[in-house]
Amino acid sequence: MTAPHAKLGDFGFAGDDTVVPFQVGPLDARGRVVQLGPILDAILGRHDYPEPVARLLAEAMTLTVLLGTSLKFDGKFILQTRSDGPVDMLVADFTTPGSLRAYASFDAERMAEASAAGKASPADLLGKGVLALTIDQGQHMQRYQGIVQLDSTSLEDAARTYFRQSEQIPTEVRLSVARQMIKGQNGFDGHWRSGGLLSQFLPEAPERLRLPDLPGGDGDNGEMPDPTDDAWAEVQALVSTVEADELIDPTVGPERLLYRLFHEHGVHVFEGADVIDDCSCSREKIRGILDGFTEEEISDSIEDGKIKVSCEFCSTHYEFDPTDFVTRN
Ligand SMILES: [Zn+2]
Repeated sequence: MTAPHAKLGDFGFAGDDTVVPFQVGPLDARGRVVQLGPILDAILGRHDYPEPVARLLAEAMTLTVLLGTSLKFDGKFILQTRSDGPVDMLVADFTTPGSLRAYASFDAERMAEASAAGKASPADLLGKGVLALTIDQGQHMQRYQGIVQLDSTSLEDAARTYFRQSEQIPTEVRLSVARQMIKGQNGFDGHWRSGGLLSQFLPEAPERLRLPDLPGGDGDNGEMPDPTDDAWAEVQALVSTVEADELIDPTVGPERLLYRLFHEHGVHVFEGADVIDDCSCSREKIRGILDGFTEEEISDSIEDGKIKVSCEFCSTHYEFDPTDFVTRN
């Protein structure tokens, strides 16, 4: 009998809404791949976003999942944009071990104009502003925040810049989102799908991370320099062959995609981690916020004799009796 070797598929395929970590030892590369499906329908289905806004938020959620699953301790990873485009704010946050929530804020009139003018790509919708990536590991740990400037920048490019500037880790990020029409009992229904791949160069020898020229140095042509390391160049070349369709294709899946990309070098695929649609809002938390309101703020919040609050993330409605809050001076 020959020794058993785990083959592709022996451990099952992760399927949708599960982040699959991988490692390519000979290329000193590590990363994660994910395909999101039902979770996008669940989260986006609670909002009435125009399609380009939903697409952009799906992209932001996919990136958030890829980045948030790198947290080594319990905590929260928050992706937030603030920009001057039709979509002025995106928020997506990931709480360990696997809770995701997100919402977008946009100007409906400018959104309609952008769509009519054919300027509704994710980069167009964001415009100029900032992308903030925050790691919050509770009150006993320092909050860490990295900021990337946005100027008609895709989220993929912003993520690469973040890793280059803030963490000095060469990183490739690919994101893809599509709305698939699937035949159901009552005709065709639209279903969101997304795919994301993050690959990082993490050699043991730090000098291999050294870059040929830093931005602003001699020979800087205004573009981000690429490391010359052959192993990383190979990873970049392979990742560049990934088609947008392939990234979201459920018949490909993370494991097959990784095999297709890296089998010649030997790729290890690890057990996936599920991502769930889970908002951390609660009646108690909102009550806590209202407790901090002044009497005037409370009276300004009364509508039809009640205080009505909706969670921006999950659209859950909460109602409170104003007399619960007006007893203080
Ligand atoms: Zn909520």
